[in-house]
Amino acid sequence: MNQTAYIGRFAPSPTGPLHMGSLVAAMASYLDARMHQGTWLVRIEDIDEARTVPGADEAILQCLQAFGMRWDGEVVWQSRRKALYEAAFARLGGHAYACGCTRREIADSRIGVASDGAAVYPGTCRNGLMEGKAARAYRLRIADDCRIGFVDRWQGEVSQHLPSEAGDFVLRRADGFWAYQLAVVVDDADQRVTDIVRGADLLDSTPRQIYLQRLLGAPTPRYLHVPVVTNAAGEKLSKQTGALALDVAKPLPELVRAAATLELPMNGGVGTVEQFWQAALHGWRRRFGD
Ligand code: GLU
Repeated sequence: MNQTAYIGRFAPSPTGPLHMGSLVAAMASYLDARMHQGTWLVRIEDIDEARTVPGADEAILQCLQAFGMRWDGEVVWQSRRKALYEAAFARLGGHAYACGCTRREIADSRIGVASDGAAVYPGTCRNGLMEGKAARAYRLRIADDCRIGFVDRWQGEVSQHLPSEAGDFVLRRADGFWAYQLAVVVDDADQRVTDIVRGADLLDSTPRQIYLQRLLGAPTPRYLHVPVVTNAAGEKLSKQTGALALDVAKPLPELVRAAATLELPMNGGVGTVEQFWQAALHGWRRRFGD
């Protein structure tokens, strides 16, 4: 048998300390990698420097360690990998185009709302910048009528009509930073990631990422999107919705709560972090093992 060795990753954005939502994503990707006796990478997604909080990266890494999650190899930082994104962007050639539209102009066009809540780009600059407009962002030209489908290991079959549900999306932002969609595809390909396990808030982004993978000649990994953790008001946990930082001094109750969110069958009591991971791995195997 010549199966590709499993490579998974956890890719937090250092916009604040880890909260329950990010712990659930980290736990799921860690358990899946361990179940496959694979490699588990950690990549700090600090490409959006406007949202990066100084020191949050180190706090996240310390938290993972305190919670008993050991990564393989060196941690990478997206902010140090810009040459890779630049090179991939250059390879996209005519698939990318300059766009001079402001956010307001796009919102006013009311062509539709993408599944992630952003306005679908009406295509104003597809055939060149309008007179008097300067390039602000760069977008990817989506082929007409393109539909992308894939089977998610948790969510099942997913299908998206890219022109109406996503539209020509941004590769390089008006503030000059590379967009998440481009950076994540380039990094997953460069790090030879075979399995992406992350929160279901990113499910809508996956068809865009598969589209980019195809244009760049990169393989499409397997996907598993775990349910998003919400607060009492039903909002996704994030710094903006007031998510509390995890208690690094008392990892066990936090780990147990995260495992419950993942609906992991846990046998017996767990008294230590080490025992927790043994039980959680067993539970993950029962749910997702072959
Ligand atoms: N950096 C993203 C986040 O923290 C996750 C990206 C990914 O897993 O693809 O939401």
